[in-house]
Amino acid sequence: MSTEALSAARRIVVKTGSSLVADGSAPRTGWLAALAADIAGLRADGKEVILVSSGAVALGRGTLGRGKPKRLEDKQAAAAFGQPLLIRALETAFATHEIRVAQSLLTLEDTEQRRRWLNARTTLETILAAGGLPVINENDTVATDEIRYGDNDRLAARVAQMMSADLLILLSDVDGLYTADPRKDSGACHIAELDGLDEAHLAMAGDPNSEAGVGSGGMITKLMAAQIAESAGCATLIADGRYEHPIAALQEGARSTLIRARTTPARAREAWLASHLKPEGHVLVDAGAARALSEGASLLPVGVTGVDGEFDRGAAVGIRLAGGELIGVGVSAYSARDIAKIAGKQSEDVEALLGFRGRPAVIHRNDLVLRPA
Ligand code: GLU
Repeated sequence: MSTEALSAARRIVVKTGSSLVADGSAPRTGWLAALAADIAGLRADGKEVILVSSGAVALGRGTLGRGKPKRLEDKQAAAAFGQPLLIRALETAFATHEIRVAQSLLTLEDTEQRRRWLNARTTLETILAAGGLPVINENDTVATDEIRYGDNDRLAARVAQMMSADLLILLSDVDGLYTADPRKDSGACHIAELDGLDEAHLAMAGDPNSEAGVGSGGMITKLMAAQIAESAGCATLIADGRYEHPIAALQEGARSTLIRARTTPARAREAWLASHLKPEGHVLVDAGAARALSEGASLLPVGVTGVDGEFDRGAAVGIRLAGGELIGVGVSAYSARDIAKIAGKQSEDVEALLGFRGRPAVIHRNDLVLRPA
């Protein structure tokens, strides 16, 4: 259950709701210190952690001085005042554990458009590799109604998907899913674990506009987030964050709902790539590169012999042997024009050839799927 899911996970996205992070317009420093200790514990166990924290609007509205913001521009201005306060509070909490926080503000396009997604993912991977703790929020100040995630449950699920996390923990003020709204139905039963989600579970969460579940999202947004995570092979824990040490509480078996994924992040990514990628061109590779790919390597410029078609960076491309045989598909980190210039060259020469420092691989191994031999 929650205990096992936590010990098995290697990359975890933790999402905290505004009511946990802020009390009125003040950060809840004691709770944040305890959360930081819990996350430091996960990292000491060798896990990678990404934190998605709400609270910018809540913390900033005191400065804006107009009560609870209703108009979009008031929320956006409040977030602009609040985000630095949020980061400062988190920086202080994590400094005790010598963990550096790295603020990352995302907009919807960063996870929905392939090109931007490649950038955002590489940046977050770089922060993790440098030992940092990515702290993510929506870029509320510029995101408008039509182009917002709107709630951080969904943002966190998209991040989990983009980063191939294996566990998403949604901390709020509910301890999981019930068969009915427990405040209205005394017969409602708590559900401790589920193998995936279906329509019947979504129906249990009730009307998206009802207050069920509290927080900005409510239970339905948590389940929708869990669905996104599940499709990416990532399990979700819907858990009560009101414990002083919310993650330690889960490790000790605190009540929560675990939604298991029916696939792994690697298999989900392959299935997604295979079904979504319609090649806009082809990259030709030599036999050595084909062998390296089959052993799980990325495609480096040195193994490329040529390129077919016109495409931009981030395009889906077929991978072909010189004889024409299609061996896979992937997402290209370079445009066709640039690939033509760096084909057959060493990765360290790319900068001199193109005038900018591109990615080491033409197609990263996480962005390609090989056809069965
Ligand atoms: N991005 C919003 C904030 O930081 C929170 C969105 C949500 O509550 O889900 O205030």
